[in-house]
Amino acid sequence: TKPIFNQLKPYVPGKTIDEVKEAYGLDRIIKLASNENPFGFSSHVQKHLAEAVTNLEIYPDGYARKLRTKLAADLQVDETKLIFGNGSDEIMQIICRTYLEPGANTVMATPTFPQYRHNALIEGAEVREVPLINGYHDLQEMLNVIDEETRVVWLCNPNNPTGNIFTQDEFDTFMERCPAHVLVVLDEAYMEYVSNEAFPNAVDSLGKYENLIVTRTFSKAYGLAALRIGYGIARESIITKLEPAREPFNTSVIAQHAAILALEDQNFIETTFEQNVETKQELEAFCDRLGLEYYPSETNFLLIHLPITGDEMTEHLLQNGFIVRSGEALGIPQSIRLTIGKKEHMQEVMEAMERKLVKVQ
Ligand code: PMP
Repeated sequence: TKPIFNQLKPYVPGKTIDEVKEAYGLDRIIKLASNENPFGFSSHVQKHLAEAVTNLEIYPDGYARKLRTKLAADLQVDETKLIFGNGSDEIMQIICRTYLEPGANTVMATPTFPQYRHNALIEGAEVREVPLINGYHDLQEMLNVIDEETRVVWLCNPNNPTGNIFTQDEFDTFMERCPAHVLVVLDEAYMEYVSNEAFPNAVDSLGKYENLIVTRTFSKAYGLAALRIGYGIARESIITKLEPAREPFNTSVIAQHAAILALEDQNFIETTFEQNVETKQELEAFCDRLGLEYYPSETNFLLIHLPITGDEMTEHLLQNGFIVRSGEALGIPQSIRLTIGKKEHMQEVMEAMERKLVKVQ
């Protein structure tokens, strides 16, 4: 194997609902660990998805033409500016396969979405990690560590696991100073949840900057994580470079159909957004009352600092029927990352957290 595989570990997903049910002898488990949509997915998808369950003996359209046409029209971009992946995870992998190799380096924040680093290491590239400042990307320091061998810079906006954003002005300053030989990946997995008006307009920015690719997903607000579909938007010259590294039939016929149906129901996204804002405010008020610090979040999760370890709180919440993400796995040990769930479930999880914290005091 490549030497790096002596150090790499497979991705360890959070515990599954069935695992926790069995291990803790509980009937009802609520998963608030992976930033999935607590309202599921659009009923329009539910109603029409089965229409795609036909001719399953035929390979899907690898170029996803119908979905491409629909999405290009919605985004008002040319169809040639899109690439689809088996989740946006696969877009990250394709970018690394295409741009990175031994001798090259890549720049990212830390902590951030771990798949950038993982895929870059597989390609043998050097990974340059720039610590966040108070949860925010240190864009100036990221520029400072770029050199001639830098091929890709990763910007996660909003950032996972901190949930906060950098603004259009900050992004413009970064892009204007970033050398043109570097591909900038702007990962917008959570963009549908953002309410801050200073959030960059990524599609407009593509007109300004030649070395930019924006990635998005149907896994979060659209609630289609199980089907694995995401996409990238960039100039045609970048998409043309990436396409040979894409597996020929990487998105399934079902996923493509579901994505079209999901785009047709923007009411679902609006409701998801509104509910998320409201419930997030309740969670923030709870944290304020208990004196728990958190990062201002433009996403459907909150990274909450604790007076105990994330693992301790995670274990306590598991016993109460909630799966959450411990900060230990995310590089911020005294914290948990909590997905904003349904109001009634959040009420329960807050009560359970309070019971634990009162005991600690
Ligand atoms: N980017 C970020 C920031 C994420 O949090 C995730 C999901 N955890 C992804 C990309 C990948 O999502 P998917 O592969 O489901 O599109």
